[in-house]
Amino acid sequence: MAVLPIRQIGDPVLRQVARPVTAAELATPATQAFIDDLIDTMHHAHGAGLAAPQVGDLRRICAVHVQANPRYPYKPDHPLTVFVNPVIEVLSDAQAWIYEGCLSVPDLRGEVPRHMHVRVTAWDRHGQPLTIEAKGLSAGTYQHEFDHLDGVLFVDRVADPRTFTTWAAFDQHHRAAFVERALALNAQYAG
Ligand code: ZN
Repeated sequence: MAVLPIRQIGDPVLRQVARPVTAAELATPATQAFIDDLIDTMHHAHGAGLAAPQVGDLRRICAVHVQANPRYPYKPDHPLTVFVNPVIEVLSDAQAWIYEGCLSVPDLRGEVPRHMHVRVTAWDRHGQPLTIEAKGLSAGTYQHEFDHLDGVLFVDRVADPRTFTTWAAFDQHHRAAFVERALALNAQYAG
């Protein structure tokens, strides 16, 4: 197990489309060890999720885990889940504006529109089929992580560049209003 270096915006690997993983490749000890490292790296950096391209690996694998996350304390808890070859399906037209950040985009946040109700089909780390319906901020987290597998960063989806903010300026000027909105979304999309 190891903590891997996280690639930063400007690294071309973040702009490439990751390739699907075969069942045979997923079952190898090397791939399983890589998934352990991906999870360790996510936990070490306090990420809500981490996608393989963020550590320089162009396979369609990502991890999500939210438990009283210090970077995003308003995010609902989400059990540790590994998604392999995820496919996302939008289930309603509802969208919300979310201030996002990213471990590959240091000290920047910005407002991104995200679908609020999605269904994900994928394999888990053992190749078992996984279907998860998600609403609210968790749906947004999935869209952010799976975008990484297509070489897309949240900055690409920021509709108004004037919403870009450092984390300190976010805390000072935007956090209170956004947390209120986030908690309202949590209530609206609970259960
Ligand atoms: Zn990210």
